[in-house]
Amino acid sequence: MTLTTEQQEQITALLNNRSIGSKGCQMCGTVGGWELEPVIYEMREFGGNAVATAATVYPALVLTCSSCGHASFHSALRLKVIVPVEQAEGGENTPAEPA
Ligand SMILES: [Zn+2]
Repeated sequence: MTLTTEQQEQITALLNNRSIGSKGCQMCGTVGGWELEPVIYEMREFGGNAVATAATVYPALVLTCSSCGHASFHSALRLKVIVPVEQAEGGENTPAEPA
């Protein structure tokens, strides 16, 4: 799911308010070099030799260090960027206003 420019700005402000944006990269130490990827990725539960079609999906925001490329994952659900399926009326994860 692609994030709008407004959503990206809201998420960046949220992360900065929680001091995440000002912390140094844990791999190279660069401070303030995090960039929010403009999409929400999903990580699917590992299904062994078969594709797990009914697997649990983890929707993730990705911050990438502009210096070394180290990436960190943040739950789009915990940050309330999207609403869980059971709370959404349309039957799928839907965008929400960031907390
Ligand atoms: Zn880095």
